[in-house]
Amino acid sequence: MKRVLLLGGVTDALAIARTLGPQHVYSLAGVGRVPTDLRCEVRVGGFGGAEGLANFIQQTGIDLILDATHPYAAQMSQNAVTAAKLTGVPCWALRRPAWQAGPDDDWREVADWAELIAALTPFQRPLFTLGREPLQHLHEIPAHQFWTLRALDIYPGNERCEVIGARGPFRLEDERELFETRNIDVLISKNSGSTATEPKLEVARERGVPVLVLKRPMLPEVDRAFWSVGEVLAALQNAEDAS
Ligand code: NAP
Repeated sequence: MKRVLLLGGVTDALAIARTLGPQHVYSLAGVGRVPTDLRCEVRVGGFGGAEGLANFIQQTGIDLILDATHPYAAQMSQNAVTAAKLTGVPCWALRRPAWQAGPDDDWREVADWAELIAALTPFQRPLFTLGREPLQHLHEIPAHQFWTLRALDIYPGNERCEVIGARGPFRLEDERELFETRNIDVLISKNSGSTATEPKLEVARERGVPVLVLKRPMLPEVDRAFWSVGEVLAALQNAEDAS
């Protein structure tokens, strides 16, 4: 494998990036922290759609795209597959398995923001863990609700919303305290499948709090899909050995 373009932005992608040598490229959208201690090249910012990505691949001699973006970063995943087709470069992907509800869980899947807001009506103290999207809706908070909103960074809230800036991994005891002190009666979450953010689901289960789960987007077919970082690293090693 001469030159891999790793599309990242999540913990698993960073774990892969840490194993890559200087000929490889780790790409970030620019919304989170940029690591400064990697041996591989790090680039930050969008490519300008699938065609921009295809140009980047051709100009920089990439011979494998490895999509390890967040399971809800569907646009980037689609661009990766389109650019792979445009350039003839293979596209592999790490597809993190979804969390599965157990018998003591009360999970309710919602397809989009409108369904989410409708499902929230009976509740008073929701905890949003969807990132920044709810910030656009702070002016729509019904009079009977007070929102707690957790995002990577802190943003201004209002009289009916507290915004907490925090980055995982989150500890079970801290999540218990968050639910307790804010009197949370419903949790809103993506199904990221990440162990770093899983403890909130355990607390919801313990307290009998329902979870509104935003449906996972459809992701495109890739040349090879992997379910764990270990599988990706083994495949990269095999490709390296074969080249
Ligand atoms: P998205 O909707 O799929 O992508 C939007 C645009 O951002 C893409 O079209 C691309 O711009 C740029 N982009 C995304 N990932 C990139 C990458 N790794 N390198 C370079 N450009 C990238 O993505 P999103 O949901 O906004 O997420 C943005 C980033 O945050 C992703 O890298 C993702 O892994 C990470 N992240 C997302 C979530 C989430 O819940 N969505 C959670 C944690 C982390 P161009 O079209 O200009 O190339």
